[in-house]
Amino acid sequence: MPLDIVPSVCPHDCPSACALELERFDGRRIGRVRGSPRQSYTRGVVCAKVARYAERQHHPARLSRPLRRIGEKGAGAAAFAPVSWDEALDEIAERLTRATQSYGSETVWPYYYAGTMGLVQRDGINRLRHVMRYSREHLSICSMLSDAGWLAGVGAKRGVDGREVAKSDLIVIWGGNPVSTQVNVMTHIATARRERGAKLVVIDPYRTASAERADIHLAPLPGTDGALACAVMHVLFKEGYADWDYMARYTDNPEGLEAHLKTRDPAWASRVTGLSEEEIVRFARLYGRTKRSYIRVGYGFSRSRNGAAQLFAVSCLPAVTGAWAYEGGGALYSNLDLVAIDRTLLEGLDELDPTTRILDQSRIGPVLTGDQRDIGDGPPVAALLVQNTNPMVVAPESGLVHRGFARSDLFVCVHEQFMTETAAMADIVLPATTFLEHDDIYPAGAHTYLQIGRAVLPPHGECRSNHDVICGLAQRLRAHHDGFSMSAIELIDRTLRMSGLPAVESFPKGGSLDCCPPFATGHFLDGFAHADGKFHFRADWAAIGPEHALLPAFPDHVAVIDEGGPERPFRLVAAPSRSFLNTSFNNTPSSVAREGRPTALVHPEVLHTLCLRDGERVRIGNQRGSVVVHARAFRGLQPRVVIVEGLWPNDAFEEGIGINLLTSADPGLPRGGAVFHDTSVWLSPV
Ligand code: SF4
Repeated sequence: MPLDIVPSVCPHDCPSACALELERFDGRRIGRVRGSPRQSYTRGVVCAKVARYAERQHHPARLSRPLRRIGEKGAGAAAFAPVSWDEALDEIAERLTRATQSYGSETVWPYYYAGTMGLVQRDGINRLRHVMRYSREHLSICSMLSDAGWLAGVGAKRGVDGREVAKSDLIVIWGGNPVSTQVNVMTHIATARRERGAKLVVIDPYRTASAERADIHLAPLPGTDGALACAVMHVLFKEGYADWDYMARYTDNPEGLEAHLKTRDPAWASRVTGLSEEEIVRFARLYGRTKRSYIRVGYGFSRSRNGAAQLFAVSCLPAVTGAWAYEGGGALYSNLDLVAIDRTLLEGLDELDPTTRILDQSRIGPVLTGDQRDIGDGPPVAALLVQNTNPMVVAPESGLVHRGFARSDLFVCVHEQFMTETAAMADIVLPATTFLEHDDIYPAGAHTYLQIGRAVLPPHGECRSNHDVICGLAQRLRAHHDGFSMSAIELIDRTLRMSGLPAVESFPKGGSLDCCPPFATGHFLDGFAHADGKFHFRADWAAIGPEHALLPAFPDHVAVIDEGGPERPFRLVAAPSRSFLNTSFNNTPSSVAREGRPTALVHPEVLHTLCLRDGERVRIGNQRGSVVVHARAFRGLQPRVVIVEGLWPNDAFEEGIGINLLTSADPGLPRGGAVFHDTSVWLSPV
């Protein structure tokens, strides 16, 4: 069987966007997947789940034909019968047209997210949406809160090159667990520790695999990171670590910040965070005396009602010490806006009608069940077209989501690689290609490369790409746009040219274009991205989102989190697991074997109080419902904190519904955003 090695790019919802090399047999099957040694961020390393991608690519449960539901919603594959592509697309077009005739075009809600991060296959659904005047989607489920927090201080979604971690003397991983979710960060940290003796601090409410490798682990209560950041800055000012020359030149109001922080001392933060004063002061001094300090800002602590304010507070630290000015210093949240890509053609932005309504993707449960806060005077959602996401598991308030999808008057089409829980609720299911079977282009959050990934395998069965499906529907719906008559690679080529970037034929061989800016730009020495060129210690929240009234201008602890009170004394964090990525990989044998079963990490003292032993079942609940999982005694967290890593399929839980039954669809401040880690719960024996 002839073997060759082919390049690709990981498409999954992960900042690393790894450059890959795959073993390919006979042009039809893949073997091992490795990180490309030629791309200097990936540096030959990928996570274990993608290294075993053959399990997913060649999984026996891959969908291979279009299906029409003939049985009960939610019953799975047995409730579907195969149909031809023409029959399927004709039926979808007819149902969308009928829904539009009954209620107007906004009754159709194309619903998508980041099952692939490729711009063509992910965002092309928006071209159809805009041309047809369907309802728009508020993309709130992942980065809305973190973006808002970063933009408040820095002004643009970019930061210091992730490779500079290797030049740092102190790396702070704040609210992330890269050992499990972004393994490449650890590669560069290992270099810094080996070559410079760098220290590693991890700030996370529980002792993750990353925290286990740290010199210092701080475990604040969920939703209190802003208080910790304020107290650290209090110490920086008080003990002479603040760089006044830097702040005078590059920040807006250092005197105001110092005055504001006078009362935010370690004793105050200790009461809020549950950390000791000594822990806070020790970390502050280490950070203050280390100029080459690099904060790798994760998403975890932003998934809270006060998440934007928390992330903003953390982003202020390098502006106080002036760490931004040093090689290996500063911070990185995401570099996704580093390269300006003209998305007009990809998303049909020239057809966007700003009067069409916007529905919040995180509130799909309330939306589908007719919540007036979401629907108002508008029509109900009568038709959903879903690509790249599995809201029956990943969206908050699963109880409402399940009720909504169960509506008999709702038409649902799902284009997927597997019969997910969402696909099982559909009327029509379409089989989707994987990234190995279609072309796409990928920016990245963690690094500075723009990458093109070409198809390296023929489509599985009758699978079609998202782009092909959108074009096929556009043709039937008489939707006209240049983008519907181009192939994926033609779209990529034209988009690159429109963006002033090298076109496909001039793109670097191997598909990776390093867009790293000069040092001064990467470190904001030629100005931060606000109009005045300064880092803003005073956030203009009103310019970022409408719900700003409770957000103070200076960094602070914003006490709007779900504290719960005596009835719900515990704080639940529904954290990512190592072997799943949202719901991708939660059906591959090695990932399931490694994760075991849905498990709650619970402090041993709490288990003792509940008269439970390690490994026994525990019920976790709140006003939205309850789930049963197995408890694991775990000392690496405060007793009030409970961790359930996921995301497991719903049927992995005893009562058929997963952890997002408990999470809230309340929007975070100031412009929405899912609050997955801001959940008060009770625990009880089963
Ligand atoms: S670390 Fe992230 S980008 Fe890299 S292979 Fe794994 S999932 Fe893909």
